[in-house]
Amino acid sequence: MTHPFLDLPPLSAERFAAIEDRVARLLDTRQTVLVTQGEALLPLEGAIRAAAGPGTVALNVITGPYGQTFGNWLRDAGATVHDLSIPFHTAVTAAQVREAFARHPETDFVSLVHAEAATGNTNPVAAIGEAVREQGALFYLDAVASVGAEPVLPDAWGVDLCVIGAQKAMGGPAGVSAISVSERAWARMAANPRAPRRSYLSLLDWKERWTDAGRTALPHAPAQLEMLALEACLERIESVGPATVMARHRAAALAARAGAVALGGGLEPYVYEERDAAPVATTLRVPPGTVASELVADALRSDPALPLAAGGGALAGEMIRVNHYGPDATPDAVTESLTALGGAMAGRGLAVDPEGARRAAADAWR
Ligand SMILES: *Cc1c(COP(=O)(O)O)cnc(C)c1O
Repeated sequence: MTHPFLDLPPLSAERFAAIEDRVARLLDTRQTVLVTQGEALLPLEGAIRAAAGPGTVALNVITGPYGQTFGNWLRDAGATVHDLSIPFHTAVTAAQVREAFARHPETDFVSLVHAEAATGNTNPVAAIGEAVREQGALFYLDAVASVGAEPVLPDAWGVDLCVIGAQKAMGGPAGVSAISVSERAWARMAANPRAPRRSYLSLLDWKERWTDAGRTALPHAPAQLEMLALEACLERIESVGPATVMARHRAAALAARAGAVALGGGLEPYVYEERDAAPVATTLRVPPGTVASELVADALRSDPALPLAAGGGALAGEMIRVNHYGPDATPDAVTESLTALGGAMAGRGLAVDPEGARRAAADAWR
């Protein structure tokens, strides 16, 4: 008997190339798109190690935990790094980026996370891209949490290295990712003697052996199951329509925010301004005297499948995340998450209004 996952015909180079082209269409880009055979940390790290080196002066914008990681890679690659740390309850502005360029005029690399699933904010990449272009710096963007939830447009925004993963708003697999690379970025990598080559991290290897060779023969065995899952999730987004998928995420964020405010009991949106809040996930600040991870554990007891999590690391005490992305970008997932949180809060004697929360979420969804 054949097994549906295991007994598959080989995945052809032609099909791999067609999946890359579909990713390029989703990003509306004419840059080189490489599908990278690993979780998104693979192209995120590969791009930094290829494009940055001892001569690089990087502005590393930190609006969540990933920015910290990028700064570490940049330093490790030998770059001079200027961190621009922004409080997690807000977003960075183009003006703040311009001020940083004024302080460090030799900046030639900018790293930024678009939306942060971990902290719930989203950054205005189009406006920041203008500032980066004026500066003439290379622009590196982590769009893992934004793709599928809001527009990601590397060409229109002047992004040189744009990394996506399918595991958040695309509702796809985690074990495969993609990057779009501009001509400028390829030139920077080619000129970097320390860029990884003959390495799992090497984007240049794939360019030489795959893209420039006409995409007729894969240099390594394709990660077949992940590729099929990526293809299926791209097909699904195309058939529903990317605008519809994004509208669902935006509606979920508005519903979660409005519902949490109406729930009361001292629960507050973690991101102060709605325009800075990410469509992919909504973060909430718990009332004083409560511990976020304990409230989440209680709420999940009623339904372990709810898309609720406590903040990571030091945020576990104060932050709750409603991960309304992918299959959870639905009115039910948001409402049931708020109801379960309301139950956990009521159990601690907090005055909450679950009915009001349901109404507010439903109104906001429309
Ligand atoms: C989820 C996510 C990633 C992928 O990393 P994981 O740690 O595997 O989840 C990268 N960047 C951002 C901004 C993300 O939200």
